[in-house]
Amino acid sequence: MPPSATPPNPTDPPHPDVLVLGGGLMGLVTAWRAARRGLRTALADPEPGGGAGRVAAGMLAAVTELHHGEETLLGLNLASARRYPDFVAELEEASGLDAGYRACGTLAVALDADDRAHLRELHALQVRCGLESVWLPGRECRRLEPMLAPGVRGGLRVDGDHQTDPRRLTAALLVACERAGVAFHRTRATRLTVAGGRATGAELADGTRIAAGSTVLAAGSLSGRLAGVPDEVRPPVRPVKGQVLRLRLPRMPRGSPAFLSRTVRAVVRGGPLYLVPRENGELVVGATTEELGWDTTVTAGGVYELLRDAHELVPGLTELPLVETCAGLRPASPDNAPLLGPTALPGLLLATGHFRNGVLLTPITGDALAEALTTGRLPEEARPFSPDRFAPGAGAPAAPGRVLQEQQV
Ligand SMILES: Cc1cc2nc3c(=O)[nH]c(=O)nc-3n(C[C@H](O)[C@H](O)[C@H](O)COP(=O)(O)OP(=O)(O)OC[C@H]3O[C@@H](n4cnc5c(N)ncnc54)[C@H](O)[C@@H]3O)c2cc1C
Repeated sequence: MPPSATPPNPTDPPHPDVLVLGGGLMGLVTAWRAARRGLRTALADPEPGGGAGRVAAGMLAAVTELHHGEETLLGLNLASARRYPDFVAELEEASGLDAGYRACGTLAVALDADDRAHLRELHALQVRCGLESVWLPGRECRRLEPMLAPGVRGGLRVDGDHQTDPRRLTAALLVACERAGVAFHRTRATRLTVAGGRATGAELADGTRIAAGSTVLAAGSLSGRLAGVPDEVRPPVRPVKGQVLRLRLPRMPRGSPAFLSRTVRAVVRGGPLYLVPRENGELVVGATTEELGWDTTVTAGGVYELLRDAHELVPGLTELPLVETCAGLRPASPDNAPLLGPTALPGLLLATGHFRNGVLLTPITGDALAEALTTGRLPEEARPFSPDRFAPGAGAPAAPGRVLQEQQV
């Protein structure tokens, strides 16, 4: 571990090896994994466990979220999806809490001829990439999910795209961090400190100055806004708003089929829609995609559009109680792929820009950052996602994701 260049102040807390700025899913998993490797770890966040994970649907959708040009990102997504069962088992043991993982599969359906053509194209791409995805006629889709609208034209059955409940996952990570000895500072970082050409820690809003051997910036959509970060390594991350609804599923009599037994997704009027049924009786309906800065207002229009489209997909859903509306911010990078690991500023690492796949990428992000923090190098599968691809003079990134603004989760 490189030594911090900041001289210690006797009134400050002891130097951690690692200071993580941000306690959303990425900050928490990084802190937990670092502490498990024996690194003294501190984390600063006014509200750890908040952030996009409070809103996210929690689809682990490596296959149904595939887009043209994102084959490298697909590799990272699949690698993280494969780690999920072991990751959850370890986390549940460490925290004593249920992390909300459910291996239920996904059905992506088409409601009209255009959607059908779009899904057929996605299927062809999935097959070219060697992914498991089966085309089903409409009646087969309805046999699997009888609540679907009679007009469903066909769909893709993807048995490997599962889900987890991000709120439970976050709660489990918080407890696991506490048990692993992570020191929490429930306040905002106001400035990255830099001395002698390396990052040396951060100043916090409560006046504390923490010196650390390594500092990990994991502040979600605010990652590009921290004072003190030199422009050459400032992450190009922006917020992409998503509104989500939560409905309550009916209790079905014993032996009768579930209202929905798996995640159902569709493209309705050109926009993506998903319904994620949880074992706790929640049905998550999402999500809008809006580029409006850091605004998290839930709007009448957003709620209307989600309910209108969801009703078209599953007409019986409008009978269900609407129990929550919320909005969150996806941290998006210019190529939709995360920025992981060391930057050109020694001592500063990034764990941000996970956009629509942050829940899915939680296990691999924790592992990649822990490896980088202990060895100075990213593991093989994470190297295409080094922040260096956006360094001035790096030219166009080798596009682990693709550059786009269109419809997303
Ligand atoms: C509507 C919606 C649906 C989604 N659905 C899915 C899905 O189905 N599957 C999936 O895989 N992903 C999904 N995502 C994406 C996923 O939720 C995000 O990629 C992920 O949660 C981002 O985590 P993060 O830790 O990077 O950022 P955040 O969750 O935003 O956390 C950042 C944290 O940093 C803190 N912070 C900010 N500034 C500072 C500072 N200066 N000092 C200290 N702390 C600071 C904040 O308080 C916050 O707690 C969805 C997101 C949204 C919004």
